[in-house]
Amino acid sequence: SYKDRQYLVLENYIGGKFVHCENHIDSYDPSTGEVYCRVPDSGQEEVDAAVAAAKEAFPEWSACSPQQRAQVLNKLADLIEAHLEEFAQAESRDQGKTVAFARTVDIPRSAHNFRFFASSVLHHTTDCSQMDHMGCLNYTIRCPVGVAGLISPWNLPLYLLTWKIAPAIATGNTVVAKPSEMTSVTAWMMCKLMQQAGIPPGVVNIVFGTGPKAGDALVGHPNVPLISFTGSTATAQRITERSAPYCKKLSLELGGKNPAIIFADADLDQCIETTIRSSFSNQGEICLCTSRIYVERSIYSEFLERFVAATRKWKTGAPSDPSSNNGALISKEHLEKVRSFVALAKSEGGIIHCGEGVDQLDLPQQNNSGYFMPATVISGVSDSSRVMQEEIFGPVTCVSPFDTEEEAVSKGNGVRYGLACTVWSRDVGKIHRMARRLHTGLVWTNCWLVRDLNLPFGGMKHSGVGREGGKDSYHFFTEVKTVAIKH
Ligand code: NAD
Repeated sequence: SYKDRQYLVLENYIGGKFVHCENHIDSYDPSTGEVYCRVPDSGQEEVDAAVAAAKEAFPEWSACSPQQRAQVLNKLADLIEAHLEEFAQAESRDQGKTVAFARTVDIPRSAHNFRFFASSVLHHTTDCSQMDHMGCLNYTIRCPVGVAGLISPWNLPLYLLTWKIAPAIATGNTVVAKPSEMTSVTAWMMCKLMQQAGIPPGVVNIVFGTGPKAGDALVGHPNVPLISFTGSTATAQRITERSAPYCKKLSLELGGKNPAIIFADADLDQCIETTIRSSFSNQGEICLCTSRIYVERSIYSEFLERFVAATRKWKTGAPSDPSSNNGALISKEHLEKVRSFVALAKSEGGIIHCGEGVDQLDLPQQNNSGYFMPATVISGVSDSSRVMQEEIFGPVTCVSPFDTEEEAVSKGNGVRYGLACTVWSRDVGKIHRMARRLHTGLVWTNCWLVRDLNLPFGGMKHSGVGREGGKDSYHFFTEVKTVAIKH
């Protein structure tokens, strides 16, 4: 039996109050393998209470002006920034990522999400058609949808949650959010700041728990007309089925199997430096990470040699150690899954150049039971292998040669996913042709992870349905009405 005071015990945040939940789930510190936190195991009852609170808060919040809402969002951004270090430490402990990554990416970007949508919501305009169409003035207005259900994954916990909460409430919706049961702590910490920022009770409700229980209750709730989900393709398929009887508005941001396509005329120094980051950042646990690297044959050997040498310098170690590039993977099960792909590659005749099974990790004693694995580079695997087709979502990338532009396009497009790609060349015509022909929602050329939040974000094929970002989030989180006034 648990002595609760030894653990951090989270509570749901419903109607502006912290509410104790009867049952809890263990949450592990991935860098030690020990339980350190207990997360509410919410179900239908808790979700019902949260939806009721959100519904009650909707009339007043949706009637506020965008300026009033923007003020509160900006205040929340200030408060997150004021507590940046606490949030970064908590995100690292909960997720396994390095403190440095949380401090420079997750938490600043979470604050920025609120600031961005606070500003963005002030600058949208709607359509008005020509004045006298059949004696009418025709124009559109946009209204918030109602109670938004928001479900987020464990890889960038606070960042991906705030990417949904910020536009949802900026546009006048109220929300019930469910973070991943594996990484709930920073969302819970943010609830305290929401009170201070002056977000009225019921505008943001956070219910913690598992997908099949709390998540399913939210998706199946008749008073939640909109679901924004980020997570795996398999879960999205389940959510689509579950919400179909209610005709819900859905935005689905899903997995990827992102290629890097590297032509012989690329700036190799810049390309290698960036492709190391794009393959391994955040332990490879970013939906946008590169996991298939196609290199033009004339530079293939040189690339592979330099890339493997650079990977060996990408250090995996204690998340708090400033010299670590990577920390621990999210869970024991996930570590085993990622390792199983390396074993599969090996059994199919692939070459493991560095990392798993080749290089030993040098970890401090207290991290010996953590879920660590070194950055791993594989070559010699066929394009049809599961290793090249399925999302691994860990620090593993595969390198393979190509001969022609045509072949690069066909290899790049040869998976069921279509989230992101990178293309490396100095030839602008070639870059433009590739951008048109590659089936991905994001094409980064000679760079990676550059995000202007004004522009659409999302994937095609099995990587998602819909886009979010400045105008796209505005469209998703509002309903448009066309009005004709006869004069
Ligand atoms: P997941 O699908 O297992 O879980 C995501 C969220 O959905 C969690 O909060 C989970 O509790 C919940 N959930 C699970 N089953 C549910 C159900 N039946 N009904 C309602 N909710 C349910 O994904 P994950 O393992 O947490 O995250 C990793 C995945 O997310 C990877 O595939 C990754 O590519 C993807 N991802 C995509 C993006 C993007 O923007 N496209 C960003 C980050 C991660």
